[in-house]
Amino acid sequence: MQYEAVIGLEIHAQLMTESKMFCGCSAKFGSEPNTQTCPVCIGMPGVLPVMNRKAIEYVIKTGLAVNCDIAPHSRFARKNYFYPDLPKGYQISQYELPICERGFVEIIVNSEKKKIGLTRIHLEEDAGKNIHEGAEDYSFVDLNRAGTPLMEIVSEPDIRTPQEAAEYVKKLRAIVRYLGVCDGNMEQGSLRCDANVSVRPTGQKEFGTRTEIKNMNSFKYIEKALEYEIKRQVKLLNDGGRIIQETRLWNTNKGITESMRSKEKAHDYRYFPDPDLVPVEVNDKWIEEIRSQLVELSDSIRQRFVSQYGLPVQDADLLTSERSIAEWFEEAVKLGGEPKTVSNWMMGEFMRLLNEEGKQIEESSLKPEHIVGLLMLIDKNVISGKIAKTVFEEMYKTGNAADVIVKEKGLVQVSDESEIEKAVDEVLANSPDEIERFKAGDAKLMGFFVGQIMKITKGKANPKVVNELLRKKLII
Ligand code: ADP
Ligand code: MG
Ligand code: ZN
Repeated sequence: MQYEAVIGLEIHAQLMTESKMFCGCSAKFGSEPNTQTCPVCIGMPGVLPVMNRKAIEYVIKTGLAVNCDIAPHSRFARKNYFYPDLPKGYQISQYELPICERGFVEIIVNSEKKKIGLTRIHLEEDAGKNIHEGAEDYSFVDLNRAGTPLMEIVSEPDIRTPQEAAEYVKKLRAIVRYLGVCDGNMEQGSLRCDANVSVRPTGQKEFGTRTEIKNMNSFKYIEKALEYEIKRQVKLLNDGGRIIQETRLWNTNKGITESMRSKEKAHDYRYFPDPDLVPVEVNDKWIEEIRSQLVELSDSIRQRFVSQYGLPVQDADLLTSERSIAEWFEEAVKLGGEPKTVSNWMMGEFMRLLNEEGKQIEESSLKPEHIVGLLMLIDKNVISGKIAKTVFEEMYKTGNAADVIVKEKGLVQVSDESEIEKAVDEVLANSPDEIERFKAGDAKLMGFFVGQIMKITKGKANPKVVNELLRKKLII
C-alpha cells in the first residue's frame, strides 16, 4: 500500500527581550546557573506576575508578518504539570485565547510554491533546565531560563514531506530573525521544534494517528527524524500493527526515534485562566503602531532584488538569506556599485572568507564602501581584476580602503607600453620552443605567454596591453 505523510510543526522561539516574561530578571543566555532568578520566577508563594509588554509586541509583530489575525482579547492560562525545572508546578501559557490565529507562510520546494497554514501563535514562559552531568544519584536545576518569554508557532497539518518541514522551519527562522524578535540560534536552543507526524493511505481523507517528536534543534535532524519516523510508521502498519499516539525523542547517535511517554491530553494539564493576570487587550492603534515598524521581509526583498536590480534568482536567494546580508548589498549598490558585480564579489570571495572564519557579515570589518572603492579602481583601470582579488582579501583582513592598500603595496596596474614591452621581450626570448609550437598552430600557448608576463610583472601588467603587444610581436 502507498502511504502519504501528514506533518504539523510546533516551533518554540525564545524572544529577544531584555527581561523575563513576568518578572524583571535578565533573560540573557549563558550566565552562571541560578544567578538570574527572583521570587517570581522561582515560584515563591504570594508573589504576583507582571506581563512583559515587549514580549507581547514581538508576538503581534510576528503574527502580522505571517498574515495572522491579532486577537483583541487574549488570556493567559495555567498549564499544570510537575517537573523539577518548573518551580510553580504550572507553566503560564495561553490555551483557548492565543494572541494570534489563522496565518500562513509560503515555502518553495522543488521550485514550487506552497502555502502552509498557521493555526496559532501564542506566548508562554519557558521552563528551567535540568542538568544531569556531574551528578550521581541526583540532578541539578538551573532556573535562569525559567520564566523567559517563549513564542509558540503552531502549523496546520499541511506539511507532506520531511523536506517541506525543513523548508518551513527555515522560513520561520528567517522571519523571526528579520523581525529581530528571536536570534534563531538552534544550537543554543533559542529556536526548537516539535514535529507531529502521521501517515495515511494515499487518497484517504482522514488523518492517521500521530506521534510527536520532541525538541529537534537542527534542520538536518528535523528531516532525518521525520524520514525515520515515517518509515517506522509505514512498516508498522504494513506489518499489521497500530500506531499509538505518543511522544518520541530523536536519538542523534542511533539515528532513530524512541518512545518517551504516552501522549498527555489537554485535560491532563487541567488548564484554567491564570487568576493573577489580567486579560491582554490589544487595540487597533497598538496594532497599527507595530505594523508601521515592520521591516521588509525576505520574500519581498528577493522579488525586489530581481526586478529592481536585475539579479538572477539564485543571487537574490542567497543575498536575502539574512537581513544583514541584504542590507549590506543594498548599501553597496546605493553607494554606486554595479548590482551584479557587487553580488558576484559577495557570493564569491566575501562569503568564502566569512565561512572560513565562521563569521557573520555584520562582524566583518569589510563594509559596503570598501567594495565600492575597489570596483572604482577596477573601472578606472588602476588595478587589474586579478590584483583586485588580492586587494579584496587585504581589505577583508585589515579593514583598510582599497586605494590605501594599492598605494601601500604598489599594486597599481602598469599600462605603460615600454615597461610592459620589456617583460614581453624577456618572456619571448626565453621561450623559443613555445614560439615555434605556437607558430605551428598550438594557439593555447597564448595563455602561457600571458601567464609568464604576468608572473614577471607580479600581475600588474594591463592585460589588454599585454595582449596587443604579444599579437604584434608574434605577428598574428
Ligand atoms: P497538542 O496541543 O496536543 O500538541 P494540537 O492539536 O495543538 O495538539 O496539534 C499540534 C500539532 O499537530 C499541530 O501542528 C497540528 O497541525 C499537528 N497535527 C494534528 N493532527 C495531526 C495528525 N493527525 N498528523 C500530523 N500532524 C497533526
Ligand atoms: Mg504539542
Ligand atoms: Zn525573576
